[in-house]
Amino acid sequence: MSQVRVRFAPSPTGPLHIGGVRTALYNFLFAKQNDGKIILRIEDTDQSRFVQGTENYIVESLKWCGINFDESVNEGGGFGPYRQSERKEIYLKYAQSLIDSGHAYYAFDTTEDLEHMRERMKKAGVPSPQYNSITRSNMKNSTSLSKDEVQSRIDNNEKYVVRIKMPRNEEVRIHDLIRGWVVVNTNNMDDKVIYKSDGMPTYHLANVVDDYLMKISHVIRGEEWLPSAPLHVLLYKYLGWEEKMPEFAHLPLILKPEGNGKLSKRDGDRLGFPVFPIEWENPENDEISSGYRESGYTPEAFINMLAFLGWNPGTSKEIFSMDELINEFSLKMVGKSGAKFDFDKTRWYNQQYLRAKKNDMLAEELQVILKAQNINVENSFVAKVCNELKERATFVSDMWEEGKYFFASPKEYDKKTLRKKWKDNIPEILLDLKERLGRIDDFKSEKIEQDFKEVLLKNNIGMGQLLPAFRLALTGIAMGPSLFNIAEIIGKEETIQRIDKALINIK
Ligand code: GLU
Repeated sequence: MSQVRVRFAPSPTGPLHIGGVRTALYNFLFAKQNDGKIILRIEDTDQSRFVQGTENYIVESLKWCGINFDESVNEGGGFGPYRQSERKEIYLKYAQSLIDSGHAYYAFDTTEDLEHMRERMKKAGVPSPQYNSITRSNMKNSTSLSKDEVQSRIDNNEKYVVRIKMPRNEEVRIHDLIRGWVVVNTNNMDDKVIYKSDGMPTYHLANVVDDYLMKISHVIRGEEWLPSAPLHVLLYKYLGWEEKMPEFAHLPLILKPEGNGKLSKRDGDRLGFPVFPIEWENPENDEISSGYRESGYTPEAFINMLAFLGWNPGTSKEIFSMDELINEFSLKMVGKSGAKFDFDKTRWYNQQYLRAKKNDMLAEELQVILKAQNINVENSFVAKVCNELKERATFVSDMWEEGKYFFASPKEYDKKTLRKKWKDNIPEILLDLKERLGRIDDFKSEKIEQDFKEVLLKNNIGMGQLLPAFRLALTGIAMGPSLFNIAEIIGKEETIQRIDKALINIK
């Protein structure tokens, strides 16, 4: 195989949806696995749909995901420019050569002309009229008008577009690495505009020209582009580039959790999860859409989850680092049918990654929240807290919510537990426990537990009669990690002070 070169080619028309990130990811994995190159190309030829800020958003999102490009607007490279609006002059030449070879033509029709044609055809019983080999001859274009008329319209600066001249009744065969052979008859295709009156190419021409000039070997993109592929194949043929045509792989859609239809921003709003990698602030109305990054997901978990939306390794292994994905990803194992988005699974992934993280790394992340609360504590202390709390957390912020008592003594005590477990004999027993704990030199969990058990024996009571009250005194709440570990972490002095405080405050 010649050098693998793939591209991710988003249009800056809005924030990158997770489906787009998955396309970028599969391209990245495929490139890295084949010692190839991945290119970021910005497809901004449709200026009417341009949204300010999207290009930066795309770059920042993919950087957060760990998807880095070998060639791009920022990195440069030998095949630039990588923004299509800066390649404007290049496309004109190819549109011209298609006209010269008779595969494309000028069309001067106004919006009204097009509207009339559609109405006429509908009256004649055609449900979805098209500009094609049948209607073309009744329209204002260089296949129906005389050469002189065409020339005089051009000389008079009349607006025109260039359309592809779709042949009649020809079969176009496309080989797709995921779907196999796809065959489409040109009778079902229209004379698409390839060059617009504003001097810009349309997506189809620009995409094909750039894939060719940038020596793209594989086009890996979403299924929504499959209907455009036959036109692209014809463009390769008409431009004489058939030999250099890339391989195609159209990825299955990411579906709504219920499975009916494509996952949209509305589904996220409706069910309460982000559909964008990072937060997006719409410059048009300042509306903010949540992102995975800001919601507390680690990029590793996000990427692992995304990789599985459409692909699976064929084994039961679910946790994959980026390097493992690079090794094991295969287009052959990408399914044809849509992949249902599963938000619980996304949370599950984050949980797995959080648990696997080293305590001191987690501590650094938790410190950000602590600092914002004006809590200044040593990292080694926070790391111990993380060790206790990470099993029960999905996000770093959960460790703060669950474990506030590590950083301050409780201000109130859970009422239900008080009612059920703070019996009349408790103060006396806790006092006894406190005195024993006060005599421990090396204040460690095992020793604390040992003393605690001796108190149980002496008073002839069970664990369930004393532990909840002891927990209330130290944490104020009914549940949490090992209480003996908590006591060790907060230390002897603090443990004793908290028991005293509870004895005073709980009547
Ligand atoms: N610009 C297209 C998009 O926005 C790219 C499609 C393709 O990869 O060919 O998705």
